[in-house]
Amino acid sequence: MVTRLNQALRASIRTLKGVGPVRAGLLERLGVLRIWDLLALPPRRYLDFRREVGPAQVRPGETVTVRGNLGRLQRRPLPNRPRVVQVEARLEADGTSLPLTWYVHRAQAPALRFPPVGTCVLASGEVRSLAGRLQMVNPVLERAEDAQVAGRLLPVYPLTQGLSQGVMRRLAAEALDRYGALVEEFLPEEIRRATGLPALDEAIRNLHRPEDPEAARLARRRLAFDELFLWTYALERIHAARRSREAPAFAPPGTLARRFLDALPFAPTPAQRAAMDELDRELMRPHPMRRLLQGDVGSGKTLVAAYALLRAVENGFQATMAVPTGVLARQQQERLAGLFRSLGVRVLRLTGTLPDPERSQVEAELASGQPLVVVGTHVLGQGIGLARMGLVVVDEEQRFGVRQREALAAGGVHQLWMTATPVPRTLALTLYGDLDVTTLRDLPPGRHPVDTRWIPERNREQVYRFLRARAEAGERGFILFPAIEADGQAQALVEQVRSLARGPLAGIPIGVVHGRMPDEERWSTLRAFQEGEVPVLAATTVVEVGVDVPEATVIVVEGADRFGLSQLHQLRGRVARSARPSFCFLLATPRTPQARGRLNAMRTLADGFAIAEADLRLRGQGELLGEAQSGSPEWKLASFPEDEALLWEAREQVEAYLRRAGPAGLRDGSIAREVIDRALPADGAR
Ligand code: ADP
Ligand code: MG
Repeated sequence: MVTRLNQALRASIRTLKGVGPVRAGLLERLGVLRIWDLLALPPRRYLDFRREVGPAQVRPGETVTVRGNLGRLQRRPLPNRPRVVQVEARLEADGTSLPLTWYVHRAQAPALRFPPVGTCVLASGEVRSLAGRLQMVNPVLERAEDAQVAGRLLPVYPLTQGLSQGVMRRLAAEALDRYGALVEEFLPEEIRRATGLPALDEAIRNLHRPEDPEAARLARRRLAFDELFLWTYALERIHAARRSREAPAFAPPGTLARRFLDALPFAPTPAQRAAMDELDRELMRPHPMRRLLQGDVGSGKTLVAAYALLRAVENGFQATMAVPTGVLARQQQERLAGLFRSLGVRVLRLTGTLPDPERSQVEAELASGQPLVVVGTHVLGQGIGLARMGLVVVDEEQRFGVRQREALAAGGVHQLWMTATPVPRTLALTLYGDLDVTTLRDLPPGRHPVDTRWIPERNREQVYRFLRARAEAGERGFILFPAIEADGQAQALVEQVRSLARGPLAGIPIGVVHGRMPDEERWSTLRAFQEGEVPVLAATTVVEVGVDVPEATVIVVEGADRFGLSQLHQLRGRVARSARPSFCFLLATPRTPQARGRLNAMRTLADGFAIAEADLRLRGQGELLGEAQSGSPEWKLASFPEDEALLWEAREQVEAYLRRAGPAGLRDGSIAREVIDRALPADGAR
């Protein structure tokens, strides 16, 4: 299975007639650098010039083509939409006429060019009935004499400022005529037969000059399949490369592991057990582990991580756990130290704010190579010298930037990534395709879903009266405010808390934490909250990730419409960490349908996986991927969720191919090298 894109197809787009430096620059903005890029550039849609009808036969709702002579243009501003100009003309034929109407942005109106009055044109567009009058809205006009047009499906390409549709069509046609015949098939015959996809050259032709919409659809499908197939194949190569690298194989679980499990204050859930077994199997192999542990908030990922860290120590290694904030580093250090108390396993901490004598001391211990665990922030990725590194755990990995993740992974022999943002299955593949995935499905026993309510802001008082009653009954509650960036806003937070303390929460001690506060101060406030000295904690999103206070049963989110859906779910995860019933109040008067959608999803969905699906629907994949900022693949044709089935089909075909080809199938490095290079970050980037 080989393709080296034919040399000619790799040639610069400038070898095409009519493409000089300026146009090449414009094309580059569309991702078109080489001839092949243009051949594989998917049109956004097609105009159907096959269905020509007379002006008298049009019906509302139809998209059709009408042939006729163009009448005089009239422009007029729209009274209630000052930025839009309406352009009207009549299309005359057979003694009748059809009004054509365009709505154009004022800034673009002067640049519009129409054929001269009286020209015979084909107008293609949707017919609508506006104010009882049939008209064609925003039609595309083509001169009827243009042989490219009549009777065809005409591609509409993506454009960029300075590049017209006409020029794009001409260039694409030219590329197809001159180079189309050089396109070589690379998919083996078996795959073509099994999938029923068209040959590559046929697909390229039909992308630009389809006979009918079905041919265009199949062409698109073929090229999307190629993207998914090659990408999956590339992932397989990465996995294979990892399996061929060496890493220390851990011995089977020994006394230390058994004592750890025996000393636990609770029995691990079946899901936690299964995850530990899976880790053990993999750590006992002499190859690096790269595993993602995904589990809903509160599913108990820390315990699984603790087990892995302990197994590293048991085998004489040092192990690190990276967390996104200094406060979390302290908390996780204490929790791990608690879990390891009777075992004599040391847990150190290293953060950016650790003062120097202590820092040097920690570093010296790491350099000495004695087996231990160190919890820290991103500074763990800054080349601190661990003499006997065996395992890296990254907690709340979604909170680290791409660069930080790369740096953290760099030192890791075995790697365990943990995320509390479950993602739908397809997205998991696209985001984490180069990791093996373990999922913690169930929560520890006895947990109740959080009673979640969306409360209009005018009923705030009631909510705080409820919080007050809970605090007086010995429980604990959070109040969450939207993020504080500037000092002025930190001041605003303090003001708001003060007015609560004078009003509905009078007499109840309230702790305040925000991002502009030194770590030490944040930690001591959080500590006071954990111990119950301060039953109410007012915070910005610093408590969003990881904070674990089992006694907390109420969370009030102010301005809840300003948070994202998965963020809200994370926040809600701060309560219901015990068997006590918990409450989440979302104070919001939302202004957009999206915000209402998020609040409703929170009200009705408890499960993080369902929330993630809803988030995908509300925001679309593009935004989710954009936010995740991972080295996610850039696909031109494939998109989700529409192409989900195609992705599974591509995976199946890769597996079948590798079964047939054996190990040689992966060794062959020549498969569309450039596609792979573009589709994937370098190995180890995550
Ligand atoms: P997350 O997956 O969100 O990181 P944590 O690891 O912080 O969740 O665990 C949430 C809470 O559940 C903690 O208070 C932890 O002690 C508790 N927990 C974890 N596993 C169990 C278990 N098997 N049984 C009872 N409680 C558990
Ligand atoms: Mg956690």
